[in-house]
Amino acid sequence: MSDDRRVVVIGSGPAGAMAAHELVRKGIAVTMLETGQDIQHGMLVRLAGRNLFRRLPNMTKAEGFVVTGDPETNLEYNYALGGLSNQWTGAVPRFCAEDFTAGEQIHEKYRWPVTYGDLAAYYEVAERTMEITADPTDVPNLPAGYCDYRQPVPQDWQSVRQAALKRGQGFTTMPLADGPPYLLLNRGTSFNSYSKLIAKLVGKSGFELITQAHALKLEWDGRRKKAAAVIYHDRQTKSHRRLEASAFVVACGPLNSPKLLFNSECNDHPNGMGNSAGLLGKYLHDHPREWWAVDIERPLTSLSPPAYLTRLPHGSSDPLLASSWTLGAFGTIGKIKSRLGRTTTYFGVQVFGTMVPEEKYYVSPAKNDKDEFGFPALEVHISFDEEVMGNMVKAREHLTQLMQDAGQKGAIREIVPTLVPGTAKHYGGAARMHASPRFGVTDGFNRLHDISNVLVVDASSFTTGAEKNPTLTVMALAARSAARLANDLKSA
Ligand SMILES: Cc1cc2nc3c(=O)[nH]c(=O)nc-3n(C[C@H](O)[C@H](O)[C@H](O)COP(=O)(O)OP(=O)(O)OC[C@H]3O[C@@H](n4cnc5c(N)ncnc54)[C@H](O)[C@@H]3O)c2cc1C
Repeated sequence: MSDDRRVVVIGSGPAGAMAAHELVRKGIAVTMLETGQDIQHGMLVRLAGRNLFRRLPNMTKAEGFVVTGDPETNLEYNYALGGLSNQWTGAVPRFCAEDFTAGEQIHEKYRWPVTYGDLAAYYEVAERTMEITADPTDVPNLPAGYCDYRQPVPQDWQSVRQAALKRGQGFTTMPLADGPPYLLLNRGTSFNSYSKLIAKLVGKSGFELITQAHALKLEWDGRRKKAAAVIYHDRQTKSHRRLEASAFVVACGPLNSPKLLFNSECNDHPNGMGNSAGLLGKYLHDHPREWWAVDIERPLTSLSPPAYLTRLPHGSSDPLLASSWTLGAFGTIGKIKSRLGRTTTYFGVQVFGTMVPEEKYYVSPAKNDKDEFGFPALEVHISFDEEVMGNMVKAREHLTQLMQDAGQKGAIREIVPTLVPGTAKHYGGAARMHASPRFGVTDGFNRLHDISNVLVVDASSFTTGAEKNPTLTVMALAARSAARLANDLKSA
């Protein structure tokens, strides 16, 4: 591999790991910088396709942020090899075709510069690394993906499936990166981006992993009109280092990536790299999320893995306002029943809603506070307005009505209060992609419109937030853009 074409990938979470994987596969040398030191330990015991025991490691205490929107905003993240995939659940639904286009009904700025067709092959690239359990059949608003393990929803839930279909919704097994049926691991998740992607690269020629390396800023070369180097803090030696490369793939997570770009201000880019249109940081969005338990009159088989009720059809919903429902076990007894495959008269529901991304929700450099390295802390300004909250209330009513259609009298028993930003860990949008630099920080291949050798490949690049878990789409985008970068570097 030629070192002249070396790419620096910053961050070892699912986004950075997928990008590095694709670059190395295509013959491009990669140096990965990761601020964390190691993978975090936990425990996962899986027997006969059911997770019997899972102990997850703690996340990093959020520092270097200033909250100015909803004061309850949650900002936990994870400085570790593998990022938040040390803690995640592994739910990996694909977006559907309309998820990329529906926002255009409100304004052209809400149309993604990629289509489902552009991403389909890269969804599969990501899915093949994840050992997914799913039902490999398309359902409304959820295209089926590649899975290693097949699992339909239990037969006695078919009346719910029929009731969902009548409303234009799918009811299927939630695609989960849960791994093979039998597992005993000293980590909390089957798919961890370090263990499943990066560990396979370590030791290969052309791949270098530098841990405890906190990227502080990208350095601009005004003559060549390119980013020339990354300056990082070496936590071991407590010194600053400089690393040159031909391109930089930023994958620090949806808040830390825009922060790195703000830090990278210079004479030609006085408000940060990628910010000549003043869009960097704006259009921050998140998934409002809530949990509740539903009591039903007649017992049904406990759902393990969980089932997924897809959104209402785009044609009959307000654009960019939707909900999805994940149905599974609730409480300790419920979890035991689900692990034993017993029936139950109650189950748990997790709802993800959406919000229309707007300029008024943003991240930006804080005026007074500093982070541990002396750079401005990140101001995070987001809240859920009445429309978003109303949509969550409608989601409760919708599910109980649907259960009634299916011949089950369902009543919501207990709502767990989680309706504040950040509980889903699904922030996005602060370095949004759009075909036009008027509406986007990056183009359709995740390259800054201003600086083509800097890519931002995590969910900060999302144009809008669909009601589906984001990570699979993050990885598909990262794989596609890394493949394009590799081809461009080879043909340059
Ligand atoms: C409990 C929980 C459950 C979840 N469940 C799901 C789920 O079921 N499905 C789903 O799709 N998503 C889920 N998520 C969210 C999912 O984990 C994230 O979407 C995903 O990890 C994002 O990947 P990423 O690579 O963009 O960011 P991250 O995973 O946050 O990785 C970013 C990496 O960059 C490193 N980094 C940050 N700043 C710097 C810097 N300046 N220099 C060097 N390195 C840096 C970090 O240490 C980290 O390793 C869940 C999250 C949690 C916490």
